[in-house]
This record gives sequence, structure tokens and C-alpha cells, in this order.
Amino acid sequence: MSICKLLTPGPLSTSDEVKNQMLVDRCTWDNDYKMITQKIRKQLLSVAHLSEEDYTTVLLQGSGSFAVEATLNSAVSQDGKCLFIVNGAYGERMVEMGNRMSLDYSVYRTDYHIIPNVNKVRKLIETDTDITHIAMVHCETTTGILNPIEDMAKLCNDNDITFIVDAMSSFGGIPMDIEKMGIDFLISSANKCIQGVPGFGFVIAKTDKLIGTQGKSSSLVMDLYDQWVVMNKDGKWRYTSPTHVVAAFSKALDELFEEGGVEERYARYCRNNEILRDQLSSFGIKAYITDELQSPIITTFLFPSDRFDFDDFYKYIKERGFIIYPGKLTDEDTFRIGNIEEIYEVDIRRLCKIISTYMEG
Ligand SMILES: *Cc1c(COP(=O)(O)O)cnc(C)c1O
Repeated sequence: MSICKLLTPGPLSTSDEVKNQMLVDRCTWDNDYKMITQKIRKQLLSVAHLSEEDYTTVLLQGSGSFAVEATLNSAVSQDGKCLFIVNGAYGERMVEMGNRMSLDYSVYRTDYHIIPNVNKVRKLIETDTDITHIAMVHCETTTGILNPIEDMAKLCNDNDITFIVDAMSSFGGIPMDIEKMGIDFLISSANKCIQGVPGFGFVIAKTDKLIGTQGKSSSLVMDLYDQWVVMNKDGKWRYTSPTHVVAAFSKALDELFEEGGVEERYARYCRNNEILRDQLSSFGIKAYITDELQSPIITTFLFPSDRFDFDDFYKYIKERGFIIYPGKLTDEDTFRIGNIEEIYEVDIRRLCKIISTYMEG
């Protein structure tokens, strides 16, 4: 198999150092391993500039969706009601989770290229006073649109509503002041902007809110509170943990700090993304999301013509060292390119050159 750089929203291209951590087998109850878990939990708070007094972290086996479902199942109790704000497939996934759990919920949807309107949400919570929780996605990876969580957070704080944010594809890559916003539960995973490998998700939670979920989950293995209680003791995970993934993630976090933290990584992603969109636009390939709403994480591009053959395009690029991503929209022909991995300006310029040659040919 030839080695390609993955221009996807995760799993993504990781550094050699991150991959190297996985060559060692580690024991789950050994102190050295448990300390890695505790170090990760501290670093996650530190990278988000959070105080250990008010916030805490829980790591949970599985992909990112497992952590989202665990959070909804633990945080939204049977006597609560959740408003899901949806403008993409990941928002829809939360609604589907609500269905499966028979949660009491309502949904506010917008078109996928539009951000939710905070005044509409205000009206919704004024008319329906049963709403106790709001859950939304920060960067909708479906399109690459960046949703306004600051405004929504303020609304939640003012109205005593618990705010749950799926920041899967943005945490670590976009600076956000979780404490100032007063976000109650924020969910992300190992294989996105922290640039680790897939295998677990994590939740950053206000400690008192997390403690409030005790006994609420209808699932044993996905009970966020129980998971936290065990882990918080000494770093031992409840049930077998993905040891190789955890070690790789620890390295990935160190590398995030070495790069200069979230701010520096954000700057790199922004540069990657700008070059990509500028160049492709000059070849006649336009982005689906307008510049003002576009995240620096992943971009959805419209097919440049009716005759555009994505499979052929994909193959051409793959043969030259990059893997891109298909689109996820049902009503438009699109493809996606992510830029949140071990990818630098030189890689993006090389990719653009390949695409330019393809378009000319
Ligand atoms: C990646 C992602 C998820 C989780 O997806 P998994 O395949 O379960 O890891 C959830 N929400 C968003 C916005 C994502 O980008």
C-alpha cells in the first residue's frame, strides 16, 4: 500500500512520533499507564485554559459518537427536554440518538448552508418552557460550516439551560473560551484536531453538572458519571481501555503544546484552508459555504461541472499521494477536503498543483 496523506475530517494523518507510541504494549492497571491517563485529563483542561476546580474530563472508549450518546443519555434526564439545533448530519445523528433513548425533545432545523438564528432559539425556549437542555454541533463536518456557539451559550446561561456542544471536529483546532461561555458539556474525540488515532472520545464537563448526572444513565457501559468516578480515582479506566490509542493521544497532546497550543494550530489550519479555497476557486471549483461561515477545518466543494467525475478525480489525486473525501449532501454534488492533520502549507500547495493539472487535462 502506498502511503497517502489523508485530507479527511479524521481519522487523519498523524505524526511518526504519535504512531511510534503504539509500538509498545502497556498494562491497564500499571501505574505508568494510569499516569498517562491522568496527564491527558489535566492537559485537556490546560489546553482549553480551564480551571481544575470547576471543570473535569472523562474519557470514554469508542468513536466520537459514543461520547455524544453517553453525554445525552447521562445529562438529559427523563424529566428534562432537549432542544436539538440541527444544520447537518451530525446534528441529525443527535436527534436519532434522542429517538432511540425516547428522550423528550424538539428540533430546530436550518438549511445546511445557514447558521441557526439565536433569536429564533430564544423564541423557542420562551414558548416551550419545558426545555432544560440545548445540544448543538460547533463545526458541522457535513459541510464545514462553523456554528455560533457563543450566542447560544449566553442564551443558555441567561435561561438556566444546560448547554451541550459537539465540538468533535473543532476542539483543539479552534480557540474557544469554554469557561467564559459557560459550556456545560463539550464533546470531542482522539482522532480530530488533537491529531491522535481513533479509539476514544472525551467529554469536558462542569464538575457540578457531571456530578448531577449520577444515576441518570440508562446504559451501564456508557454511563458518563460512573466512568468518571472510576477514572477520577487514579486514572484507571472502567473496563478495558484502548492502551495504544491512549499513549498515542498523549504524544499528540504534547505535540499540540509544542506547536504553541490551540492558537498556533488554528493559525496553521486557517492558512491551509485559505490557500486551498483560493486556489480551487481560481480553477473553477467553488466552496459550498460562504467565506464568513466557513470553518478552517474542512471545506465542501461543489462539482465544477455536470461532467465532473469524482471517482476519476479521487483516483488521480490518490495516485499522487493524497486522499480526499466524498460529499455528504443529498441535494448537491459535492466533495470535501479536510486540512486538520499533519499538513502544512507545502502539502496544500502540492495538492493544489495536482488539482490544477487535473483540471487542465
Ligand atoms: C467526527 C464527528 C463526530 C463523531 O463521529 P465518529 O465517527 O463517531 O467518530 C460527531 N460529530 C462531529 C461534528 C464530527 O465531526
